[in-house]
Amino acid sequence: MNVLLTTSAAPQVSVFDTNEKRFPLGVGFLISVLERAGHKVYFIDRYLTPTNFIGNGFLEKHGIECVGIYSNTVCFEDTIWLCSKLQGLRERGQWKGVIAVGGPHASICPETIPEYVDFIVRGEGEKAILDIVEGRAKGRMQCGAHIDTLDALPMPAYHHFVDKPYMLAAGAYADDLVDSPIFSMNTSRGCPFGCTFCSVKAVWGKSYRAFSAARVVEDIEKLHRDYQIAGVFFREDHFTHSSKRTAEFCEFLLKKNFRIKWLCESRVHPLDLALLPLMKRAGCEAIFFGCESGSDRILKQIRKGITAQHIRQAVLACNKLGIRTFTTWLVGVPGETRADRKATLRLIEEIKPFKVAVGVFVGLPGSELRQEMEDQKEIMIEDNLGLAYSRRHNRLVFHHYGVDSCKFIHPDGTVGEAPPFYRTVAPAYAFLRNVRYQSLRLAQEVFSKH
Ligand code: SF4
Repeated sequence: MNVLLTTSAAPQVSVFDTNEKRFPLGVGFLISVLERAGHKVYFIDRYLTPTNFIGNGFLEKHGIECVGIYSNTVCFEDTIWLCSKLQGLRERGQWKGVIAVGGPHASICPETIPEYVDFIVRGEGEKAILDIVEGRAKGRMQCGAHIDTLDALPMPAYHHFVDKPYMLAAGAYADDLVDSPIFSMNTSRGCPFGCTFCSVKAVWGKSYRAFSAARVVEDIEKLHRDYQIAGVFFREDHFTHSSKRTAEFCEFLLKKNFRIKWLCESRVHPLDLALLPLMKRAGCEAIFFGCESGSDRILKQIRKGITAQHIRQAVLACNKLGIRTFTTWLVGVPGETRADRKATLRLIEEIKPFKVAVGVFVGLPGSELRQEMEDQKEIMIEDNLGLAYSRRHNRLVFHHYGVDSCKFIHPDGTVGEAPPFYRTVAPAYAFLRNVRYQSLRLAQEVFSKH
């Protein structure tokens, strides 16, 4: 069968950052599985470059019989637009193909997918897409089976990505690292942790599964041979979850004397700190840590399963070894107080991560914390994507991002520029902040002389 897989375009304005466009590895696995089974697969990444393939005769020209759309919540408006255009073609008798929608949004909010869509794929899509394309799929709702042995999967279809303008640098995670190209890889799925603000488990499930260390190294060698990669960014929630696999991976690289720079995402705990020197020797340049808060009370409340001390130990250990740390923090979770936010700022100042990214909390569909917001009547507004904003959202956005670079949420749920009130108070606010800063500096100078 001739299949087109596509992604949904990012909105013009969003409270989430949609600028970093790396390889869509989830779709890459689907393409590989279909190609291995002998199907002809076309791929258009509308998230990377919004292309109107419906109006330009692409479907007819290539005899496309099935269109699979990857959808996440932020881009869901475009998913709907695409679906309606495809359905329009079918109603006018201009196309007779099958429409399937998958990805995180389909997994979490299947009820929001229009009725005329033939298949909704929830969870992992490799088996489901084959069943759909080969006519075995029974029923509209396809619950993708978990793949327990990831080594059985082929490599993602990098050959569909390499001619497109994806981000191939380390970016903000290690912006002083000049090596390129850095390819993204995904070597594990599932997360056994229960952070209440996160919806990952609703997509991938709680059981952690990973490619073997030997397979990961084999794939890196192939990428190096075929595309001369200089580095790898492991885009997955917890690359280091298995200390055994992490150690084996590092040992393999060192034994083969394979010099490659790599970045990964991890938790500060559990993380075997004794492994960090080995990781550094094997080429680890940067680690992304989701820290969330410096307040143990908040960390406990959001069931992050870590403490401020875990954050301190992990970041300081990395600092000592010269491994860059990209840390993310959340403000504005329900129940948070000014003292909690101060504890976060104090911890950041103390441990000095390489990069600090503070995000204002937005309740994601499918996360427990969003439900808590609802129960505590904390929701100011829910937008048309199902994202929930707390009553304090705009004030915190103003405080943490500054008035010029922030995305405000308006009473009708749209995202845009700051309302006039904030524009008026911004200069006064900046002035007061400056006065406070100057007074503190003066005081410091006076005291340092005595
Ligand atoms: S935030 Fe990370 S560790 Fe927590 S549940 Fe989500 S993926 Fe797992």
